[in-house]
Amino acid sequence: MTREKQKRGILERLKDGGVLGDGGYILELERRGYVQAGPYTPEVAIEHPEALRQLHQEFLRAGSDVLQALTFYASRDKLATTGYANRMEAINRSAVRIAREVAGDQALVAGTLCVTWQYRPGNAQARARVRRLFEEQITAQAAEGVNFFICETLHYVGEAVLATRAIKQAGYPAMVTLNFKGSEQSSDGHEPEEVARILIGEGADIVGANCGRDPARMLPIVEKMRKAVKTGYIAAQPAAYRTREDIPYFMGRPEFPLGLDPLTLTRGEMAAYAVRARDMGVNYIGACCGTVAAHIRSMAEALGRKPAAGAKSPELEKHPILGTPRSLKGRVRTGR
Ligand SMILES: [Zn+2]
Repeated sequence: MTREKQKRGILERLKDGGVLGDGGYILELERRGYVQAGPYTPEVAIEHPEALRQLHQEFLRAGSDVLQALTFYASRDKLATTGYANRMEAINRSAVRIAREVAGDQALVAGTLCVTWQYRPGNAQARARVRRLFEEQITAQAAEGVNFFICETLHYVGEAVLATRAIKQAGYPAMVTLNFKGSEQSSDGHEPEEVARILIGEGADIVGANCGRDPARMLPIVEKMRKAVKTGYIAAQPAAYRTREDIPYFMGRPEFPLGLDPLTLTRGEMAAYAVRARDMGVNYIGACCGTVAAHIRSMAEALGRKPAAGAKSPELEKHPILGTPRSLKGRVRTGR
């Protein structure tokens, strides 16, 4: 299948202005009963396509420019942990097909790769295995037609380099983002500035950080990346779960994974993040785990957009109890 020509590609859109990403799929679909906590594999793409379709529709309506195919943890090895290894191709293809159906001509579809958990620094056999896992997923997803690829939630720059090369060799724009957990270094000891320089040097078009950290603890990292590279675009896709300086990533908190609900950031907080990110020169402003459509709509509106779901944006003055100027004073009136 040929890549779509009628839509402006990701690089053209980034050149013209900011791109708004989407929110988190895996944890939200777990809450809805379609993904199992623990393994977090995405067999929902073949078992309950309607559930995945619905979540894509919510993000599209909220204003996302890009829908990420739900192929996170869809490498053959990760799927083997839940007995779905022999459905690897079907899961990858179905996930892209569903995203494309929803995106239509309104949004781009990003094929998605992520940490394989098979990378071992200095181990040539592991490198070869990781490369094969990436290539298998790229082949399956490209067969359904994607606009570009995102490889995300990586811990090692070494693994990120393998992903970048595999994506570029397949002929697609590459966005590659690391999950910085407890420290601002990659697991192989690189500072954010070095991460950006290395990956841009390898041909990545967009580099940045995703998952784990909330906006407050991710933006300083992507700001360092922004200052480190003159060419190349910068992406931020933070989690919408509140973290702390001593435990800056949500997976490190005792509430992970089943007690995260009270840590969820408000839509207003995510909207404020979007504006801060834009002002510091982040080009691809998205989000990750914990982020639902209400967050994305508020982010879209804060960035001056008019998403379809804006037709139902708050008008709190019409609420019978809230609707007096006195009681509305000091309230977050619009969620923006
Ligand atoms: Zn995430």
